[in-house]
Order: sequence, then C-alpha cells, then structure tokens
Amino acid sequence: MSEFSKIDIKFLAGVGPKRAEILKKEIGVATYEDLLYYFPYKYIDRSKIFKINEIDGNFPYIQIEGEIISYEEVGTGRAKRLSATFSDGTGTIELVWFKGAKYIKDSYRLGTKYTVFGKPTQYGSKISIAHPEIDKVEPITERKHTLQGYYSTTEEMKKKFINSKVISKLVESIFRSLKVPIFETISVDVAKECNLVNINDALRNIHFPKSNDDLQRASFRLKFEELFYIQLNILRYMKLRERSLNGFKFKRIGDNVNDFYKYSLPFELTNAQKRVIKEIRYDMGSGKQMNRLLQGDVGSGKTLVAIMSMLIAADNDFQACIMAPTEILATQHYENIKRLLSKLNINIALLTGSTKKSERDTIDKGLKDGSINFIVGTHALIEDNVVFKNLGLVIIDEQHRFGVVQRSKLWKKNNQPPHILVMTATPIPRTLAMTLYGDLDVSIIDELPPGRKPISTILRFDSGADKMYSGIRKQIEAGRQVYIVYPLIKESEKSDLKNLEEGYNYVKNLFKEYEVCMVHGKMKSSEKEEEMQKFASGKAKIMVATTVIEVGVDVPNASVMVIENAERFGLAQLHQLRGRVGRGAEQSYCILKTSHKLSENSRKRLDIMCKTNDGFEIAEADLKLRGPGDMEGTQQSGMAFNLKIANITRDAQILQLARDCASRVLERDPDLSQPEHLILKLRLDKLFKRIVNFGLVG
Ligand code: ADP
Ligand code: MG
Repeated sequence: MSEFSKIDIKFLAGVGPKRAEILKKEIGVATYEDLLYYFPYKYIDRSKIFKINEIDGNFPYIQIEGEIISYEEVGTGRAKRLSATFSDGTGTIELVWFKGAKYIKDSYRLGTKYTVFGKPTQYGSKISIAHPEIDKVEPITERKHTLQGYYSTTEEMKKKFINSKVISKLVESIFRSLKVPIFETISVDVAKECNLVNINDALRNIHFPKSNDDLQRASFRLKFEELFYIQLNILRYMKLRERSLNGFKFKRIGDNVNDFYKYSLPFELTNAQKRVIKEIRYDMGSGKQMNRLLQGDVGSGKTLVAIMSMLIAADNDFQACIMAPTEILATQHYENIKRLLSKLNINIALLTGSTKKSERDTIDKGLKDGSINFIVGTHALIEDNVVFKNLGLVIIDEQHRFGVVQRSKLWKKNNQPPHILVMTATPIPRTLAMTLYGDLDVSIIDELPPGRKPISTILRFDSGADKMYSGIRKQIEAGRQVYIVYPLIKESEKSDLKNLEEGYNYVKNLFKEYEVCMVHGKMKSSEKEEEMQKFASGKAKIMVATTVIEVGVDVPNASVMVIENAERFGLAQLHQLRGRVGRGAEQSYCILKTSHKLSENSRKRLDIMCKTNDGFEIAEADLKLRGPGDMEGTQQSGMAFNLKIANITRDAQILQLARDCASRVLERDPDLSQPEHLILKLRLDKLFKRIVNFGLVG
C-alpha cells in the first residue's frame, strides 16, 4: 500500500490529534491502512422502509420514514430525557434521547422528512426508539448503500462521539483522498487460481457493499488472504525444515525398552498408546527431526508414551528431558518415572527452581558428562547454563503453558536439534491445530485405559450446598477423597485468596472429624508439597485448592471434584480439573457450583460440561461460544496473529482452500524467489517479521 499506508490517522479530515489518540488506544488504529482494515462486524439491510403501524417491540433494527411532530422534555434528574413524537401517517412512535437535547433540537427540525433507524422497544401500547440514527431522506436513486456496515466502538469512543457512523464517514474520506489505487497484496497466480477479487474492490466492498454478492466476494477475498499468509508462513518453515534438518536417527530398540516392556509395565498398553508409540518410534528412526504434537484427553496415559519414547532415546545412547509447567507436576513426573524405571539402569534427575545449589552443581555436571540419562524439570531446564552432552529428545508436557519462544530455546540446546514431542491434554480442534501447529505432526490418543467409569457432572446452585455437603460426607464415609477448587485466576487477587481461605475454614469446621488440607500458588513450595502429600497419602480426605492442581495431579482414590464459581473458569480448564477424578474404578462426580445469577452464555457452557466427557467436543463448543482468540492457551501457545475477519470455526473451508493454495505455491517456488511471488514474499515478511516460529529456524 506504499507510503499511503503509513500516513498517521490524525491527518485525516475529521480526526485530528485528540481523536487519533483515542482511535489508537481503543481500537489500535494508527494509520490510514489500519482504518481500512478495521472492518464492520455486521451489516444491516437498509433497503426496506417499515410502516409504523406494522412494527412492535419484537422487531430488530428497523427503518422508518416520516417527520417529527413535537418535542417534549420529560422527567427530572437522571430520568431526564428528550422525547419526540414521530409520525409517518400510519401511526406514531416515540424517539428518546437521554442527553444532548439542545443539539438534537437544533439538528432535527419539525416538519422535515427524515429517515429514522434504530431498535424499537415496546412500553405498554407505546413503541419507542432510544438514540435513533436520523438522516435526511434521500431519493431512492441516490441512496448509496443498501447494506450498512456497523463498526464496533468502545465506551471511550462513544464519549467522544466516535460512533459507528463516524467511523464509516472516516473510511469514506480515506477512499476519497486516495490518488492512486491501493497496491495489490496477493500475487496474480493466486488471485486467478482462487478466484479472488482485487484488493481495491475488496476493501471498498467490505466497507460499502452495494449488494450481498459484492459483500460475499469481498469477504471471501479478505478471509482467504488472512488465512493464506498464515499457512504460507507455516508451510514455508515446514519445507525449510524438511530440506535442511536432519534428525538423530534412533535405529535401535534395545534393552531399556524391552526390559521395561517385559518387567516393569504395570498394565497392558491401550491400542491407542501402542499406535502412538509406533508413530513416534518411526519418526525418530527416519533420519528426520521429529516435531510431533501428542494430544490425549486427561487420563489417557500420555506419561507412559513419554517414558517409552525416552527409553528409545536411551537405547540409542541419547539423553532425554521432560519439561512440565509446574513444580508439582514436575515432581510428580519425576517420582512416577523413577518408580517405573527402578529396575532399569537409568540415571534420572529432577531440576526445578527450588533445587539446591549443591544438588544443582551435581546435576549440571551429570548432564554435561552424560551420566544423567533423563532429566525432569520446569522452566529451569531452559536456562542457558543447562548444558547437555547429547540431548536427543525433548518432551514438553501440557504445552499450553509454554510460549513459543521458551520452546524454541530448548530446541537450540544442541548443534543438531533434538526430536520434539509436545504433549497436551487441551484438545485442539483440527482447524485450530492446523492454524496453530501447521508445522507439527499430530498423534492422538483417542481411548482411555479400560475400567474407567464416565464421570457424572452436575450443576449445583449455591442454595443447594447443604445437599452437596451431605453427598460429600457419604463419599468420604465410603473411603473416597474430595477436591474443592476455588478460582484464583490471578494468584495476586486478594479477594480470591480470601474466598479460598474462608471456604477452607468452613469445610474444616463442617468436617471436624476428617483432615482437610489446602494448596494454593502463594504457598512456599515446601509447604505446598507437604499439603499435597497429605492428600496423596490418603491422610487428608478433602483438599481445598486453587487451579494449581489442574495439571497432572494423580490421586486415583479421589472421586469428587467440586468447582466453586464454576462460571469463572474456561471450559478447557473445567475439563482439566474434572480429569483429576475418575481415575480409579469408582463412580466419580464433578459438581459445578455457581450462584443463581448466570448469564445465558455461562449457562450454555456449563450445560456442555454436564452433557459430555469428551474433551474434543468440549473444545469445539468452546471455540464456537468464545471464538479462538479467547480460547485458553491460544494466547500463550504462539498464536501470535490476530484474525481480523476470518473465523477459525466458521471458515474452516476457506482455511483448507488457503492451505492447499499456499502449498501449491511453495511446491512451484519454495523460496518465493520468482518475480511474480515477490509480492508474497514482501507481504509475508511484513506480517510475520516479529514472530518467532515454532520451527527451528532463527
Ligand atoms: P495423562 O494423559 O492425563 O497424562 P496419565 O499418564 O497421568 O494421563 O495416566 C493417567 C492414569 O492412567 C495413571 O494413573 C496411569 O498410571 C494410568 N494408565 C495409563 N495407561 C494405562 C493403561 N494402558 N492401562 C491402565 N492404566 C493406565
Ligand atoms: Mg499428564
């Protein structure tokens, strides 16, 4: 878009420095180009004029034509308002303003023909429209747009009178000031192949569509383009890696794997586990570097897959590491793996933020000289001073807690990058996975170990607490254990911490005869450990906790999970929490507790939890209800792009088209070095220059 794109928005007629400041702060619009790419979020058909006698309060936005017959100022104080009676000959309607009475009266004269637009509301027999949009009536032939775009605006913007209509006017004035056409942003071959309208038409029609057809074409082109560049970026790195990165070739399956399988495996592997291990084994033996995402619902047995993979590395004389997001989880993995491998000759260490200095020195030395085979740890593992002799495999558990940059640090610990296995229990819908992890291969464990009973999930209002506690008592009497989880989204929230502590005291008082323990993120890790231990050993029957227990904690005897203020959690998180129970053979319960006041959306989300235990179904529903930007983990997991117009769920088909097209382009021209692709290359660099890719390049 050349120099034009960079022009500061303050120079646009009608903006100026003050409004520019607001536009920048509120909606990130700093330049002409930014504003051109600030698209309407909905369109309203303004070709139809309604008659007043045919409308009622159930109508959506409507348009009527007529004149104001009188003004009246009514009410006092906060209820003070300006009321106008508007007539079109078939009846009258009230127009209301709660501020700006003088301005309104000066602007809209009695007896002039106006078009009024707004949402009617019914009060008894009276219909009124608050803060309507009013225009002079234009002859039909001069009406510019039948579809009017609506732009989102914030409270701050409205206070400064920047409403949707003002934005629309500003966009119009940018188009008017354009001296030359906007530069094309996609190559001719792609436009032809995929039937895309040019950028000038697309941008004009997305703001001011003359017909539904025009709008569809514009929106297709812009969505396509958005998804196309993301795919082109991912696929470019994929191709680069394929061409340039050899991986360690793990040829052997030796004593470690065989002995473990024969002597230490506590149960038969599920078919899904076997299949996934085969895929991993094949990958690591292929001579190419593995980059694999392992998805498996909570409790599906990912840890065993990790262990088998690490043993393959050991059989080939390589070191392996597994990184977990929290100290608790790292410690639990460590204990678990150590126990399972006790019959093998494997030296395994644990490294976390609280590892003591002396111990730390021993570990550093062991990693460097290769005497430590496996290391389990937290973020501490990615520090620069952790040096391996020959790191062959990196496993990252519950990856949605790790950012891209952190991950790429790990893969840079060798001259040759190690194999990577990313494990996640957050099921990522296919379309999103393709967008986020287009450069990773995906394995899925779609089967739970045998003998699990589906967890029964119940929604309970706070008023039903007594009944709930008596249910809990029965479970404890039957020998089970119970989790009660409080939201503590930001560990710094004082009021949340207070809620948790009050809850703890309440429960302690109610269940005097039993031990109750408490765990939260603000505790010292030794203290946390001690409390966790109480629960793990079965001494404490109830654990009151925050989401620190979300990942990985494994106490098969626990059969009840109570989640307080359940509406404050995301669905993925609720699913994770629920996965802490239902690990033994007993029937387990998850109780979602909320107050009576639930928004419709919250209600829907909690209903989904009650309806299904299938993590994928939940993730799909979550994506639909909240949109991908909100989906837990996507922010941190490296979705460093913001979709302006495409929607991952709704536009799955366009995504597929864009991906196929990007793939064909790279097939023909892997480096985008042909002249016709210069445009793609420049655009790609512009869009992704600051983004570290999952890949290993850089
Ligand atoms: P996640 O996939 O959530 O990390 P884990 O690896 O922690 O799951 O496994 C959950 C539980 O299931 C553990 O107690 C584990 O020992 C058990 N488990 C794993 N695989 C099997 C299997 N094939 N048969 C029976 N139990 C299994
Ligand atoms: Mg796990």
